[in-house]
Amino acid sequence: MRLSRSFLPTLKETPADAQIVSHRLMLRAGLVRQTSSGIYAWLPAGLRVLRNIAQIVREEQDAVGAQEVLMPTLQSAELWKRSGRYDAYGPEMLRIKDRHERDLLYGPTNEEMITDLFGQSVKSYRELPQMLYHIQWKFRDEVRPRFGVMRGREFLMKDAYSFDLDHAGAVASYHRMMLAYLRTFQRLGVKAIPMVADTGPIGGDLSHEFIILAPTGESGVFYDGAFEDQDWLSEPVDIADRGSLGGFFQRMTSFYAATDEKHDDTAWAGVPAGRRREGRGIEVGHIFYFGTKYTASMGITVSGPDGQPVTPEMGSYGIGVSRLVGAIIEASHDEAGIVWPESVAPFKGVVINLKPGDAACDALCERLYGAAPQQMLYDDRADRAGVKFNDADLMGHPWQFVVGPRGAVSGMVELKCRATGEKREVSADEAFAQIA
Ligand code: ATP
Ligand code: MG
Ligand code: MG
Ligand code: MG
Repeated sequence: MRLSRSFLPTLKETPADAQIVSHRLMLRAGLVRQTSSGIYAWLPAGLRVLRNIAQIVREEQDAVGAQEVLMPTLQSAELWKRSGRYDAYGPEMLRIKDRHERDLLYGPTNEEMITDLFGQSVKSYRELPQMLYHIQWKFRDEVRPRFGVMRGREFLMKDAYSFDLDHAGAVASYHRMMLAYLRTFQRLGVKAIPMVADTGPIGGDLSHEFIILAPTGESGVFYDGAFEDQDWLSEPVDIADRGSLGGFFQRMTSFYAATDEKHDDTAWAGVPAGRRREGRGIEVGHIFYFGTKYTASMGITVSGPDGQPVTPEMGSYGIGVSRLVGAIIEASHDEAGIVWPESVAPFKGVVINLKPGDAACDALCERLYGAAPQQMLYDDRADRAGVKFNDADLMGHPWQFVVGPRGAVSGMVELKCRATGEKREVSADEAFAQIA
């Protein structure tokens, strides 16, 4: 994208109403604009980040056998009356009437709808297990929408649902999702730690919240820092084998991690002092096993091996895709701006032309930009160098390719790494290798 012709409206001033750094940076870097309370429009750079995150989420869901669907945002109240949640959900649910006075709602989550879809089509235990997900906008009328996209009213969520024949199968599905989540967050470049969460009336310990450490987070968290060094992408797990999945889960849960509600001083004392991480955290994902809560209340069964009806066991698994944009920035920024992990950056790099109109500069910049125009931003504006450097740092592109008149004549480029600040003079060929 050529900056001179793009819609990337950066702001010099810090927006007064934004309380936390990620919200300020998202506005300043031109990622989003608020259109009404808790509702945001995504501008080109922000949309690229949102899509990059969604794509990584999608790939890791697919890798554990989940299948993507797309359910609508509007749902019939009838569905929610069947599960009993229409009245129970409360004022967070946005209720709507159509012209025929029929009750609709903007989905805050999709358990009812997916259970109904499942029940319409799956009739036999032979078709189990099933794992379905979608990446879709949700609406929750939060009492206090705040911190920009972190607690919006309309927000993008990946929500997955599993259906199994029995408890053991449901546990295996949960383990599979746990693995997918660990891999997803590792690829996103964030340290999201799974912490045992409250399961309410269902009991047991099969609910985890994935939490990123950040001073503005809403929950207090304690965990063993050794967790951060684990490489879940190369963890040898056979996802078709329940024993292998169970072994992985046991190893994963051997690291201490708890929110303040579940914190246990005795177990904490067992974590070596140098490895204790303590602070505030942001919930970016939540996985939950809830058995037959919805299948039973909605009357969904499949025929079992002996011909008798069986009520399938379910779990649901959420990731806050739009919240992650803010959370990643919260965890990865400095005074100058955003420091994007490469995997989610809107652009892999920016080519900064220090002297547009200079033949050598223009030619070298066009060649660099032309090597990957889909992934690169080209700052071809007539502005001062300082403005361009500031915007590049603010927008957080992982690599900056700085082309000035002196270097351009000899085909040299200054390559800056945003994360480390390191600068090197490199040949055009080396620069191309970095872009490829
Ligand atoms: P919170 O505790 O922050 O209100 P939640 O526990 O109500 O979140 P879940 O129902 O577990 O949320 O939804 C799954 C995920 O959706 C959450 O882990 C979070 O990442 C995201 N999410 C929930 N509410 C919002 C919101 N208002 N804005 C953005 N993302 C949200
Ligand atoms: Mg909530
Ligand atoms: Mg929560
Ligand atoms: Mg939650």
